[in-house]
Amino acid sequence: MKASKKNKFKNAELCTHCGYCLPACPTYRVLNDETHSPRGRVSIILALSRRELTADEAGAALSTCLVCRACHSACPVGVRPAKLALSVRNKSPIAAPLLSRLLHIITNSHTLTSYASSTIKWYQNSSLQGWLRGSRVLRIIPPLHRLESLIPALRNDPIPEFQPSMSQKKAKIKAALLCGCMARLFHPRVAPSAANLLQLLDIEVTLMDGFGCCGAPFRESGKRELFIKQARKTLDAFKNIAEVDMVICDTSVCMVTVRSYARALSTDKKYAAIAKIFSDKIQSMEILLATGLPTVLPEGYNPPENSVTFHDHCQTQHGLGNKKEPRELLKIVAGSLSELPRGDRCCGAGGDYMLRYPELSHNIRKDKLAAIHESRAKTIVGSNSGCLLNIEAGLLQEKSSVQVRHLAEALWQPLSKG
Ligand code: SF4
Ligand code: SF4
Repeated sequence: MKASKKNKFKNAELCTHCGYCLPACPTYRVLNDETHSPRGRVSIILALSRRELTADEAGAALSTCLVCRACHSACPVGVRPAKLALSVRNKSPIAAPLLSRLLHIITNSHTLTSYASSTIKWYQNSSLQGWLRGSRVLRIIPPLHRLESLIPALRNDPIPEFQPSMSQKKAKIKAALLCGCMARLFHPRVAPSAANLLQLLDIEVTLMDGFGCCGAPFRESGKRELFIKQARKTLDAFKNIAEVDMVICDTSVCMVTVRSYARALSTDKKYAAIAKIFSDKIQSMEILLATGLPTVLPEGYNPPENSVTFHDHCQTQHGLGNKKEPRELLKIVAGSLSELPRGDRCCGAGGDYMLRYPELSHNIRKDKLAAIHESRAKTIVGSNSGCLLNIEAGLLQEKSSVQVRHLAEALWQPLSKG
């Protein structure tokens, strides 16, 4: 193996095989099999670097890794199994299931997303959904059954409107709000809620919602060329509004993904400069709101009587560490907060993992659903659409009354009433 390739996996050589990472790993907890543990995955990568395995053999063995990064937080010597698995995937990408490709075609087009979103609304409103879910018809076609089960419950509260009302003179800050594609399709209340919250802080908001997908699924499955193509498409959309002071993402996985653009495009002659400008302007919505929102709450504001708990997106909590801000926000705006037991654990969504490995994903999700019930919260809040879809599908299957909300909705809903 050439030196550059060997260096990619050098981090694996730090592993002392202590096993501290094992209980943190969702696939190991469910499968109880060393091959599907961080330590096992590191051994596979070391075997690849010794040429005892081919990249395809190693890639196949590593494909069950959710890239949740819980092992990064657990490892005492700094081994990064998820990052190493991604390096292998860049050589041997994971094939996307048909459903995942179909979803990407839809979410990558503004027009198709609008049509699909309207169709979902019609379907939720029709008696067809109740009938199909009550019957076993969909089970004849398992992939369709999986996709249908992800459609959230019908809600009666109106979709908030976002009306840019900030005059150019009054606005101190200009921000681009990058709207996640899965949220645009399944959670139409997220983008207007986030935009309204930012506007409360005297921020002039421009919605960035016509670019399609930021490339997260391609980045996580090792399809580098497709990821770079999506990154360039997002940056093309950004070029027209590049004078904004900051870029905010309404969805956690998009934030993690777009932060990687500067590095991924650093040698791209046409896009390196704009990728750097873009990445430098990215700010966390949670941090921004946690700083600004308490200062603009109406006098005497009291949060509604509701018990809420917060689900952390894995890559955000283990990579960026923004844990306290959403909790502070929920406490002062949305209700009484209870901590989610075993909150450092993955919910099993993992982007298209829930479509690729539905059984494994469901088994991982069981513990998350149990933790939600243990918290006794009436509402579970999160910032990542994929996690919310997966959790709500599980709660609906159980016929649970627990509500699922995105953080932006959970904050804007009570404030809009005030
Ligand atoms: S990856 Fe880290 S925690 Fe896991 S066995 Fe190796 S050294 Fe120990
Ligand atoms: S990233 Fe998650 S699933 Fe993959 S090895 Fe680490 S803990 Fe296990």
